[in-house]
Amino acid sequence: MPRPPTGSLAGSAWTGDLPPEEHALRVRELIVEMCGSAEGGHLGGSMSLVEILVTLYRSVLRVEPAAPDDPERDVLLSKGHGAIGLYAVLAERGFFPAEDLATYGRPESLFSAHPNPAVPGVEMPTGSLGHGLPLGVGFALAARLDASPRRTFVVLGDGKLQEGSNWEAAMAAGSLGLGRLVAVVDRNSLQITGPTENAVALEPPADRWRGFGWHAHEVDGHEIALLRATFDGIPADTDRPAVLIARTVKGRSLPYIEGQTRSHYARLGERPKKRALAILRARSRKAAQAWPPWHPTPRAPRAPRSGPLPRRPRSRPAVRSNATCWRSSSPRTSGWCAWTATPACSTAWTSAPPPSATSTSASPSRT
Ligand SMILES: [Mg+2]
Repeated sequence: MPRPPTGSLAGSAWTGDLPPEEHALRVRELIVEMCGSAEGGHLGGSMSLVEILVTLYRSVLRVEPAAPDDPERDVLLSKGHGAIGLYAVLAERGFFPAEDLATYGRPESLFSAHPNPAVPGVEMPTGSLGHGLPLGVGFALAARLDASPRRTFVVLGDGKLQEGSNWEAAMAAGSLGLGRLVAVVDRNSLQITGPTENAVALEPPADRWRGFGWHAHEVDGHEIALLRATFDGIPADTDRPAVLIARTVKGRSLPYIEGQTRSHYARLGERPKKRALAILRARSRKAAQAWPPWHPTPRAPRAPRSGPLPRRPRSRPAVRSNATCWRSSSPRTSGWCAWTATPACSTAWTSAPPPSATSTSASPSRT
């Protein structure tokens, strides 16, 4: 019989005062900021699981940021390609200051493109495909042997389900009757090479999980109220593990990449990052005004422009200035395209040598 929850974890809840949807937007802003770093990040798959993680950390998981190693805490193993989404949610949940994420991708930083267990709140370094669920089975079995009330949640990308080790783990969990194990599938129907159904078909996913002895639920993965109700409906004391198949959209909230494979990994230049932030903030302008700035250092005011605008030199080759092909004016990223290189883009850049990567002077057309 599991022990009752400890006092420090029972009923622990997100202490923020923003509505959950605005928390989700705030998390998306942080994801975009990290994708604007030199490292870049898994943009599409992180955007698709935002509401899943927000719901879990707001309303479901018994965790306490002040005691991230409490042995009775619930455990969450996140999909490796959602690391920046996990970091953003952990920051909003209070495990560390959100300002720390500004170091993301730097050599000395704790925050890397795959989950780093040195970060408070991150349990395991997932990311090698097929590891998460087998680890989750081990965590759940250990909790049972400890007679602990802790539950184990494993967030899986659907592309990850192409690995057979997941199905071995699913079969073992059903056979062992690990009722305190919950899997959540971020079912955005895309993996790094394209639609999941073009690789090994995963539909109908609920039937497959039920065949291994799991309770299976399907839900809109962007509706926080539905996610909350579904999680609440999963009994804690049962002899069957449960899976929640969350139907999501890769790249959610950025219309020009939603549902597109190319959103998988992105290094956003300054312009696409600003564009993405503008789109997100337009969705909740009132809340955005209250959010703290990402860069706490005040910037010097710009001198007012005098004289006519400089003209673009006629000899400069045309470059597609749309969402599929941006080039940052930042010296950090000059010389390559932040988004997928299209043929038009490649032609343009190969016909015009990029400026020196060490140059810090912007061309007149970009001032
Ligand atoms: Mg996917």
